[in-house]
Amino acid sequence: MTRPPTSLLVGRALRLQCPRCGEASMFSGLFRTHRTCPACHLKFEREPGYFLGSIYLNYGITALVSTASWVVLRFGYDFPSRYILMGLAAFCILWPTFFFRYARALWLAMDLRFDTKLFHARERPPTPPQETP
Ligand SMILES: [Zn+2]
Repeated sequence: MTRPPTSLLVGRALRLQCPRCGEASMFSGLFRTHRTCPACHLKFEREPGYFLGSIYLNYGITALVSTASWVVLRFGYDFPSRYILMGLAAFCILWPTFFFRYARALWLAMDLRFDTKLFHARERPPTPPQETP
């Protein structure tokens, strides 16, 4: 099986679309993820706690940007630490909130990049519950 191109998966993730088909949004609300893709039925949350990795991704980017910003502003531009910390405190609250959906989409795209079976598998739509007579 061929690996899907990384640029395709990242592009779909940055548009918050299903990384496998790119035809439907991953989210039904601001912070609510669809259980499955409405178009190709890819199960987004593969198992309980699946998106824990996206929190690590979000945290890592936040820590990296805030640390690099502090070093550049403090030593490159000689800003007082008090003002830098106030700005970075606001950044550390606002950025992860904004990036939440992108981190989830990128996490799922990364999973599909490395698990080609998941990318090529065709899942059936969920069956509705059977009524008992
Ligand atoms: Zn899909």
